[in-house]
Amino acid sequence: MTGIYVHIPFCKSKCPYCNFFSLASRKYKLTFLQALSREVELTSGYLEGQPVTTVYFGGGTPSVYPPAALQQILETIANTHKVIGWNSHGIIPGSSIAHDSMEDYRPPAIPAEITLEINPDDVTVAFVGELKQTAFNRISLGVQSFDMDDLGYLQRTHSTDRSMQAVRLLQEAGYENISIDLIYGIPGSSAERWHRTLETAFALEVSHISVYALTVEPGTILSWMIERQRSAPTDEELLVSQYHLLTRMAVDHGFEQYEISNFSRPGWHSKHNTGYWQGTHYLGLGPSAHSYNGIARRWNGTNLNEYLQGVTEGRLKFEEETLTPEQKYNEYVMTSLRTMWGCDSNKINKDFGSPVYNFFRKQVALSMQQELVQETSGIYFLTERGKLFADRIASDLFLV
Ligand code: SF4
Repeated sequence: MTGIYVHIPFCKSKCPYCNFFSLASRKYKLTFLQALSREVELTSGYLEGQPVTTVYFGGGTPSVYPPAALQQILETIANTHKVIGWNSHGIIPGSSIAHDSMEDYRPPAIPAEITLEINPDDVTVAFVGELKQTAFNRISLGVQSFDMDDLGYLQRTHSTDRSMQAVRLLQEAGYENISIDLIYGIPGSSAERWHRTLETAFALEVSHISVYALTVEPGTILSWMIERQRSAPTDEELLVSQYHLLTRMAVDHGFEQYEISNFSRPGWHSKHNTGYWQGTHYLGLGPSAHSYNGIARRWNGTNLNEYLQGVTEGRLKFEEETLTPEQKYNEYVMTSLRTMWGCDSNKINKDFGSPVYNFFRKQVALSMQQELVQETSGIYFLTERGKLFADRIASDLFLV
């Protein structure tokens, strides 16, 4: 099983908190699609013929393009790689399967999960009609909040009504596998405002919700605004209280927290993201996209002109790093601890040897004493309190 990620680097405007590679200009929109098709050809051997079980179009905002244009890229991918379930009619939209453990978890043979990130602004009756003619069978909507003041702070261009209408239009068209993104810890927000956003999200009966704390990344407009006191800084107490409200309401509504930032109805996990946490191989296409083949990680540059020129001339420009066993161990610990499947010490023993296993056991005992981590049959999980300190706990377990 492998995945393919396609990065579309255009947005209608640049959100102040965003540190993804995206441009508000659409100058090279057409040229970019041609370059992307060429990159698919140039990287055709990267996955070595392994079946592709997930494809994810993210960005940026892929929905700056009409669905038919994105379908053409999908078709180029399917003509080059073995996308599971692809036939001359494309993919039949399908449902997810439930699974009990990270090891048991394998995506269904048919069909591949094919996700499209969409901005709520772009969802119209005509857009959805065209989308239904494509192979996308999972939709990720960048809602961020159902509160107009929050959306104003984030400088998003859509309204809460527009987001709700987008979900309904997609559901009426038959999409069951819909995820929405939310952000908490927004300065000026409150328990009541966050409660209303969550109530609205769960009432819409989507299958998946990704929820991220607002982080102030260096170099973003938000960071600049906070430094000059033009925006209030994020508030740690607000973040913690809103996180607790989120996890309580998720349980009340029957959602599983299968990863710290990801909640779904049972069985409706994102197979693509779960693949990253499982260490499956993936190919990234487009500027800034990362790829991994089990040996090395490589990433495309973030200069759109260089990307377009290089790919057009048949030269791929990327940086590459071969992962050491220590780096692989660190990545396994960091990602697995964040999931509900936990970090398996037996796997650490098998894959990295007894000295690493003994190191892990010794280090993790400290977090267990503080009741941040608990263990069942050699598998270690973050406690509810531990989830608030996931990064620090993982780094305490790292091999330097
Ligand atoms: S729409 Fe998304 S990718 Fe584009 S600028 Fe805003 S946060 Fe970044």
